[in-house]
Amino acid sequence: MNENSVVAKKKFGQNFLKDESVLHKIIQSKPKNDNKIVEIGPGLGDLTKYLVDVGSVEAFEVDTDLCKILQEKFKKEINTKQLHLNCGDVLNAWQSSSEGNLIDEPYDLVANLPYYIATNIILKALADTMCKNILVMTQLEVAEKFCAEAGEKVFGSLGIITQSVGTAKIVVKVPPTAFEPPPKIDSAVFLIQKDKDRSDKDFEDMLRVAFMQPRKTLMKNLSSKYEKAKLQEVFQELGLTLTIRPHQVNTKDYHQLYKKI
Ligand code: SAM
Repeated sequence: MNENSVVAKKKFGQNFLKDESVLHKIIQSKPKNDNKIVEIGPGLGDLTKYLVDVGSVEAFEVDTDLCKILQEKFKKEINTKQLHLNCGDVLNAWQSSSEGNLIDEPYDLVANLPYYIATNIILKALADTMCKNILVMTQLEVAEKFCAEAGEKVFGSLGIITQSVGTAKIVVKVPPTAFEPPPKIDSAVFLIQKDKDRSDKDFEDMLRVAFMQPRKTLMKNLSSKYEKAKLQEVFQELGLTLTIRPHQVNTKDYHQLYKKI
């Protein structure tokens, strides 16, 4: 098999990024540092060829057909150890790692992610203490959730977990025509710069309860698990109205709420 005879496999979320201007934008947006670069799903190597020029790359590709093509295409970089290619499922690699670290040195995740597991991968990267920055392409809808600010309709657990560890911003929105084959939806590249470790599991459990029914009031959602009288006291202390909706409360107040209830 060679590159020209590759047929994209839907089950692996294969949409190859062909727009050179978007590839350049990704490389320009990468924070300048000496961290290892982790690429999940190098595919045909269109992004990889730029990444190996700016750093040392650890790549994970699940598709064995693509792995063979990449081994051939990047023979030189593999020999010089500028690229290390892991042929297998990145989620298994994370699962089998100790402490939830994908690799055991500081790294930046830079990738055009497989969309069917993009949210899962980003949550794992946010929890991975070795991961310092996340620069990824996902569906626009997912990117907007990770980059949302309090008050926006799409502000929810993903935005709060992200703001609890750092800052996030959309770098560029990308139309379907940038890919081969084109996906059905718009995409976006976004950057999360981490400056703290991920919040604890109990905090995230509270968020799940808070957003259980996103259009209901925060009080209604939280009182399904926490004592109402205590909630009323804490809401008053924090200046939160009893009718406030979950997306209207900012990350700082969620942390205060968590501490107090
Ligand atoms: N980076 C390439 C590009 O930009 O053209 C390909 C991106 S494509 C959206 C996603 C890639 O992730 C595919 O190469 C696919 O085979 C790979 N992939 C899907 N699931 C994976 C998994 N569980 N572990 C590692 N790679 C995976």
